[in-house]
Amino acid sequence: MSGTYISANLRREVVRRAGEICEYCLIHQDDALLGCAVDHILSEKHGGRTEFDNLALSCTLCNRRKGTDIASVVPQTRRVVALFDPRADSWTDHFRLSADVLTIHPRTEVGRVTARLLGFNEFHRQAERALLREEGRYPPRAARRKAQPSGLGRQVARTEKMG
Ligand SMILES: [Zn+2]
Repeated sequence: MSGTYISANLRREVVRRAGEICEYCLIHQDDALLGCAVDHILSEKHGGRTEFDNLALSCTLCNRRKGTDIASVVPQTRRVVALFDPRADSWTDHFRLSADVLTIHPRTEVGRVTARLLGFNEFHRQAERALLREEGRYPPRAARRKAQPSGLGRQVARTEKMG
């Protein structure tokens, strides 16, 4: 979050690149109760600039939880780990959706600190996903490629290889 002016053009390009979905929790901007905002991945406080490669589309809930943070700590090891970076990291490397699509499971330490800090699996967010799932709106179409639940994508790939 920041008070920096982001031109309508730049905002439009960020939204287009994201496929209109939050690049953290994958909710569609039309379905996010408070909409989506343009997030500075590396916050301005830490020298991040308002340029295309440092911006991501983020729902207001993810954006508020992330604030100006860029890292968090793994409680078990007390290691400082950078948050998921939608520009540098692949969503599926760090997260997977549960088979019922209600839970975003971390696959890595990056995933773990990000899921916790951004509150991905808080009760109200899972409840929201449950409602959207009933409507066929979660995961949104634009996110299905990157977020096949339960490694379905991998299964398909394996089948293709075998066939
Ligand atoms: Zn989000």
